[in-house]
Amino acid sequence: MLIRVENQVRASDLVGCRYRLVQRHTHPEVPRTEAAQARADRYDAARSAVWENFPRKSDSRRIPFRRIDLGPIPAEDPWLRSLETLEALATGATHITGAVFANEKWLVGVDMLVREGASASNGSYTPVMVSTHRVARKHDKAKTLGVPTHRLGLSEPLELGYKPRHHVLDGYHLAMAARALDDLGLNSGRGVLIGQDRNLAFYTDTATYQPALDAALDAVELENLPTQPRRVKECASCRFWPLCKPELEAMDEISLFLPGDRARPYRERGIETVQGLIDASLGTPSQLAAAWRDGTVLLAHGDITVPRADVEIDVDMEAYMDQGAYLWGAWMDGTYYDFVTWEMLGSKAEARNFAEFWTWLMEQRDNAHAAGKTFAAYCYSAHGENHWMRMSAQRFHAHTPGVPSVEEVDAFINSGEWVDMFAHVKANFVGPFGLSLKTVAPQAGFHWEQGDFDGEESVNARRVAIGTDAAALTAREMLLTYNADDVQATLAVREWMSDNAPNTPRLSA
Ligand code: SF4
Repeated sequence: MLIRVENQVRASDLVGCRYRLVQRHTHPEVPRTEAAQARADRYDAARSAVWENFPRKSDSRRIPFRRIDLGPIPAEDPWLRSLETLEALATGATHITGAVFANEKWLVGVDMLVREGASASNGSYTPVMVSTHRVARKHDKAKTLGVPTHRLGLSEPLELGYKPRHHVLDGYHLAMAARALDDLGLNSGRGVLIGQDRNLAFYTDTATYQPALDAALDAVELENLPTQPRRVKECASCRFWPLCKPELEAMDEISLFLPGDRARPYRERGIETVQGLIDASLGTPSQLAAAWRDGTVLLAHGDITVPRADVEIDVDMEAYMDQGAYLWGAWMDGTYYDFVTWEMLGSKAEARNFAEFWTWLMEQRDNAHAAGKTFAAYCYSAHGENHWMRMSAQRFHAHTPGVPSVEEVDAFINSGEWVDMFAHVKANFVGPFGLSLKTVAPQAGFHWEQGDFDGEESVNARRVAIGTDAAALTAREMLLTYNADDVQATLAVREWMSDNAPNTPRLSA
């Protein structure tokens, strides 16, 4: 028997913590967290933007077109919508938006169904899903079938130079829709995903997802659900954390210290509690468990080393999902420099903004060299910055003066003058709470003016900041303060490390 939560299992129930289903069943009254609500709002916004792009009419009499809009998703009454979906399919409509399929076990909303085949009597349907993920990435060699979103069902897909990126949740969505269509004898075997690039729709083979869907549905059968929580990454934003935390603490569950799979090697040795790991005297893991227990944030390996230079700049970039980088912030000699655009990303404004930042950064470097000084630009975990420097070069170099080529960016990234502080922190410390900037900088005495303004909130704030009203101006101010704090936090960590991280306990040999 499947556990029934708000009637049926959804695709989102098939990923992540399965104890969530148990908690939702037992405590349906617990409301969504603000973060989850914000995520849902973001998804709805992405979906509406794509729906605007769906075809509205045919440009040729030879291409039949009959679109039926059943309403937004999620549907207020999914059962009613599922009946309306069957009726719409029976009419042979070419495009059906807001479809829902439901059976006694599960339920799936489908952004659009596109009829394949010229005639209503022998047509099959392809489910189209909007995803908040990046569903394909440009690629020199790979080919994927795709079509502009506004031509879905009007043009045959073409081979595009993209490589698909698989996301489990998207796969489950499409597999459920395809399975429902299969039951009706209407499955085309294809599915379509529209990701962060809303203008392109990519085709995929839905049969490949079916075995994974079988396994996932099996895992949410009542007899297969866990009977107690285990801490995982998603606990941090889960509405049931206030209920699970005391349960975990009462058990002294090892996942409190080592969430997810990280505890597996110790469970295999029969260690299921934090105290068990401390008592096992396994060297660093046991010392870290003891540090976790008494709230010690960092343990140093020994004497600290960190690269320094005569001229130092701290850099931090803010991007909006897959669309572009809107803020390059830098801290030099006690001054914050912001290179920012609130205009559309992927535009000339973004190109000019990056050109200004790059030109300024290179000027500081050249001036340092000319004065016979050493130079270093620092960043904490440079993955995002490296990605957007390269992407900016790739997109804008050809037509925007001041934007470097990819080769110039790579030369800078690979030079010793671009320093990823996270790598140096990792080389010098271990910590039971991780080594994120938010965890490490307070040890160096730094505290964020913005409090708990995390990455997800910054994405939400950016959505507001592109407006022109008072709320937009407040959001801009918040984003700039957040960024200015991050660059100063990086500086604080570096200086504290230069002082040999005073008062930080050392790992015993
Ligand atoms: S708090 Fe964690 S363990 Fe509990 S239901 Fe949520 S994700 Fe699962």
